[in-house]
Amino acid sequence: MKNIYSILANIPPAGTFRACCGHSVTLKGYTESILLTSAVPFMFSRLRRYRSLRTLREHPLPDHLWRKLRRELYLLRNLGVRQAVELRKRTTLLLHDKAIHGAQGLDMNLEMRAVIAAQASLLSLELDESSYDGWSEIIVYPGAFRVTRTVTDEFGISHEQAAPLSGESWQNGPLVLSWDDVHRDSYHRTPGRHVIIHEFAHKLDALNGRVNGMPPLHPEMSIEDWSKTLGKAYSHLLGQLEQGRECINPYAATNPAEFFAVLSEYFFTAPATLRQHCEEVYLQLRKYYRQDPLKRQEY
Ligand SMILES: [Zn+2]
Repeated sequence: MKNIYSILANIPPAGTFRACCGHSVTLKGYTESILLTSAVPFMFSRLRRYRSLRTLREHPLPDHLWRKLRRELYLLRNLGVRQAVELRKRTTLLLHDKAIHGAQGLDMNLEMRAVIAAQASLLSLELDESSYDGWSEIIVYPGAFRVTRTVTDEFGISHEQAAPLSGESWQNGPLVLSWDDVHRDSYHRTPGRHVIIHEFAHKLDALNGRVNGMPPLHPEMSIEDWSKTLGKAYSHLLGQLEQGRECINPYAATNPAEFFAVLSEYFFTAPATLRQHCEEVYLQLRKYYRQDPLKRQEY
């Protein structure tokens, strides 16, 4: 079976298509452009830092609410001191940066919004602070919401299908959640199921321009190792399902993007299961997220 991940690995990320601008560049102009391009990220990081400090000072997360979240959300337990401080900071900033509002009459109070922001921030805790940039809205429905899509069957005939969804992530657009699912997954551990982790993993996956199961990897990571490891695991899952055997949530077999999102759910909610069944995948995700949820469970 072809390794879909090795095909994806050979396609350069959309963000890398910026070499051919068609201008002839003089040596002086070239030097100036280097100075300019190296100064821009520096300016942005200073601006981000300034805005972050102002937000943290003017819109702090109340102590009692933070303590409640740490106590009641199982994913937030057993964090080290540095991680807890960073998580509170990122939760506060995410609450300020994103408009989180209810649909169909759902009233989203601060605690409900913080439940979403805190767990989304856990996912990106050790990633770049800009990981959730580029979109601005989180829409929360009271329960599963129906989305009508056009699907084409094996005879080439198109049908309208309305499926109930617990979450949805639009590339460069809003993230949509069902509060029933958020509440269930946040307060009751169900191995391999966490709608916030799933939908925000899609947002991370989309950072290189395509949602394809391969987020932008860190410089110290090998694209080849990632492709080989996840590709092998994906093929194995398809084989298991063909034989009628179930291992992880079969929704993971939909495509590599869903595979990555479902693996992320296991990584955070059931790390021991993921490591036991597929240690190499666990290690790749540990390198990507720069966290080891299994260690947190040992306390
Ligand atoms: Zn998905």
